[in-house]
Amino acid sequence: MECKKERNLKNCPCSYQGCSRKGICCECLKHHRENGELPACYFSKEAEKKYDRSIEAFIEDWKKR
Ligand code: SF4
Repeated sequence: MECKKERNLKNCPCSYQGCSRKGICCECLKHHRENGELPACYFSKEAEKKYDRSIEAFIEDWKKR
């Protein structure tokens, strides 16, 4: 199966520069899941910029929506 990295990058909302997983959604999700976190695309634009990918931060972010 062909990697869709270039296509994914066009839609990736993560503002953390220099991440080697950017656009490789399977690796991104695996990384954050192993750390008990969620990837950037689960957060609002404002919350995403804080780089706190914890589940607690995700819940707090959703309460504000
Ligand atoms: S969400 Fe995390 S793993 Fe995914 S691109 Fe951003 S910094 Fe990298």
